[in-house]
Amino acid sequence: MSNDKIVLPGDRVSTSEELLPGDGTFEEDGIILASRIGIYIVDEKHKKAVVKPLTSIPVELRRGDIVLANVQSVRSNMIIAQVIHVIGKNRAISGDTNGTLRVSEISTGYVKDPATEFSPGDVIRAKVTQVKPSIQLATKDRDLGVIKAVCSKCRHPLSWKGNKLECSNCFNKERRKTADDYGNYDLHKL
Ligand SMILES: [Zn+2]
Repeated sequence: MSNDKIVLPGDRVSTSEELLPGDGTFEEDGIILASRIGIYIVDEKHKKAVVKPLTSIPVELRRGDIVLANVQSVRSNMIIAQVIHVIGKNRAISGDTNGTLRVSEISTGYVKDPATEFSPGDVIRAKVTQVKPSIQLATKDRDLGVIKAVCSKCRHPLSWKGNKLECSNCFNKERRKTADDYGNYDLHKL
């Protein structure tokens, strides 16, 4: 099991020169990326890159759950994020997965504009504060926030350079409300 490669949505898994995009992946400019959280495998027979779901047994979200979510859109007073995984529950999520993170729930400090903290495509770790009638999320704690972000210009991963996040490809500098283990998270603790 230790050889299993767990990947997050947006992770680069292969190239179109090597493989075809299979289930759980998509191709963009010759790069094959994961479209979901799961285990990356190569289907040698069909020469396909595949991301298998972690498991298929569904779990219902509960208040207090810590989840991973994929940022879909950033609005003036909230972000919309799709919940993709419940930490500690190696299971698919049943029912609604569209979460809302209000601007006041992003950080303990004052945030005027969510666009200064999150960007579409980010993977965040968040706490579920409400399930019904709609999923509400919060990222105030130190261990909550972005765990993976890509450059808004060229989509390469951002990594720490001093106290800023920098793109290793185009050197664009960006900021985020990061979780305290950004860049160091252990995917096998999912
Ligand atoms: Zn870049």
